[in-house]
Amino acid sequence: MTDISAPVQSLRCPCRSGANYAECCEAIHTGERDAPTAERLMRSRYSAFVLENSAYLLASWHPTTRPATLELDPAVRWLGLVIEETVSGGPFDAEGVVEFTAIGRDTDGRFEQRERSNFSRVDGRWVYVDGASA
Ligand SMILES: [Zn+2]
Repeated sequence: MTDISAPVQSLRCPCRSGANYAECCEAIHTGERDAPTAERLMRSRYSAFVLENSAYLLASWHPTTRPATLELDPAVRWLGLVIEETVSGGPFDAEGVVEFTAIGRDTDGRFEQRERSNFSRVDGRWVYVDGASA
């Protein structure tokens, strides 16, 4: 098969949904739309890491656990995201858990970061609470 995806590839959403950024995480990043599920919020946060959108990362963090500032490591390049498991976090839930593996590369080479993250809602909006290595 001929690869005609190259120009389109650059528009693909970094969260690996297969959709274009404009139809995927962009509206969540701009605040135009809310993430309907904890997994969706998690994906939008991964995209924000790829795009180095620290303002969105802070905005989607629970106020009780949110750091005052967020310094993103410029040496890290995020290469992929795998959702391993989700518990609750649906449209009718108040809390949810998402376990994922983020694949990245830094000056030491490729690495995988597996984390189990907790999400809850503040004023109806999903936010990231905290996470632990899994
Ligand atoms: Zn996306």
